Amino acid sequence: MSQEVFMKMAVDLALENVLNHRGGPFGAIIVRNGRIISIGRNQVSSKNDPTAHAEMDAIRAACQYLNTYQLTGCELYTSSEPCPMCLGAVYWARLKGVYYAASRKDAAKIGFEDDYIYHQFTLPVEQRIIPMSQILTKNTYEPYYAWVNQPNKQQY
Ligand SMILES: [Zn+2]
Repeated sequence: MSQEVFMKMAVDLALENVLNHRGGPFGAIIVRNGRIISIGRNQVSSKNDPTAHAEMDAIRAACQYLNTYQLTGCELYTSSEPCPMCLGAVYWARLKGVYYAASRKDAAKIGFEDDYIYHQFTLPVEQRIIPMSQILTKNTYEPYYAWVNQPNKQQY
């Protein structure tokens, strides 16, 4: 199947998602070697889960199907440009590439905040709308030391 076919499927999933009242207008597909590994749909409102984005759904399903936490060699087709959370997940999963249809600017025009969040991340911490502060405790680095000194750990 061609890239256009995979993208059309991702967009069809997004449309179906809206028509079935599952969540936002977003769908995603993960492909490896020309074969569909998983699909994902936005289910934020139906699951009351702000992380239930189509890309996260597709990544979780692909990892479960392939029994791995790394999707090396896989590509993501998504109906809309990934938000910062999903882009982070793409990096953690080490996907080979990402293709998207609508852009974050397009999503902003219908009320989604992807572009706004991308912009927030470019600001110095003290200028962001959600404050974030470091609180150091006596045991802050104990988990790190335990990890570093743990033999036979599964590095990722
Ligand atoms: Zn997302």
